[in-house]
Amino acid sequence: MRPISYLRAEDIDGAVRTVTADPDTHFLAGGTTEVDLLRQGVLTPRRLVDINRLQLAGIEALPEGGVRIGALARMSDVAADPAVRERFPLVSRALVLGASAQLRHMASMGGNMLQKVRCGYYRDGESACNKRRPGSGCAALGGISRTHAVLGTSEHCIATHPSDVAVALVALDARIHTRTSGGERVHDIDGFFLEPGDTPDREHPLEHGELITAIELPPLPLARHSSYLKVRDRESYEFALVSVAAAISVESGVISGVRLALGGIGTRPWRARRAEELLLGAPATPENFARAAREELSAARTTAMNAFKPELARRTLVRALETLTRDGDRR
Ligand SMILES: Cc1cc2nc3c(=O)[nH]c(=O)nc-3n(C[C@H](O)[C@H](O)[C@H](O)COP(=O)(O)OP(=O)(O)OC[C@H]3O[C@@H](n4cnc5c(N)ncnc54)[C@H](O)[C@@H]3O)c2cc1C
Repeated sequence: MRPISYLRAEDIDGAVRTVTADPDTHFLAGGTTEVDLLRQGVLTPRRLVDINRLQLAGIEALPEGGVRIGALARMSDVAADPAVRERFPLVSRALVLGASAQLRHMASMGGNMLQKVRCGYYRDGESACNKRRPGSGCAALGGISRTHAVLGTSEHCIATHPSDVAVALVALDARIHTRTSGGERVHDIDGFFLEPGDTPDREHPLEHGELITAIELPPLPLARHSSYLKVRDRESYEFALVSVAAAISVESGVISGVRLALGGIGTRPWRARRAEELLLGAPATPENFARAAREELSAARTTAMNAFKPELARRTLVRALETLTRDGDRR
């Protein structure tokens, strides 16, 4: 058995200082990822710094129409927050459709951003996995890959990014606020989730010891009319095979604004920029939705086991847009 020490942080600077000083010290929030993987020997910290007493759980409706969500706000509290539900229903829906009620009460938003992939070869702690042990290979490439990614993959890793709410946040151009020993930083979400490329072990741009303090949703009026549609093997307590975060405005039958992102199919939450480009200014018709979905998925690279995913993603994207525009104009 490996001994682990535990420290409860009382202030942000102290927490950041302690973790920054030691590569084997990790932050502990809800523990629903960290403790799972620690038990399986996948993560091997020798010290945990519990951040749950830090004053980072607030959810604030900003005057211009955005929302600032503290990193320690629980998934269930964010999902139920009136401002989030009114201004960004896709965020609330993505959270409600994730994990289970018990997990959502424990799991924090900051921890959600940094949760680890669900690839069985990563999580068994033994198989070849370039993410867990760089240079060891990728057992998923020739192995069981039904749930793996078809966009943003590399010859070194095809693990799917697992977070639901991150898909909604990518569609909204959220900003991640952090604290380092050198001060405060803000990361655009566009560059936050890294594709594996040649370095699958590098999943985000944070330094060791950099603490997520908040997630900011900038004002976006069209997000009031938005949804998160998740397709999975069973109706609850399951990760996405495919998901779609969508927000759209339509005036006189023409799309005047659109935000789209896909989950379950990419090595990062996938902003569907090509589809957005095609749809903006186009009539809101099923044919245009289908064309945009086709174009977005045209770069998909599948394995024998996950070859069904591009078609499932196309259909899910079309269904999300059809449902949102069913009642005609939306501003
Ligand atoms: C059975 C099961 C089913 C699940 N299903 C889903 C699902 O359907 N959809 C979905 O999206 N998620 C799902 N999850 C994942 C779950 O949402 C994450 O485990 C959770 O959000 C992590 O948050 P946490 O507070 O528990 O993080 P922790 O486990 O405490 O931390 C996770 C990682 O983030 C680091 N960390 C935590 N907070 C911070 C911070 N503020 N700054 C910097 N680093 C930090 C920790 O050091 C650790 O490395 C599931 C999890 C389980 C166990």
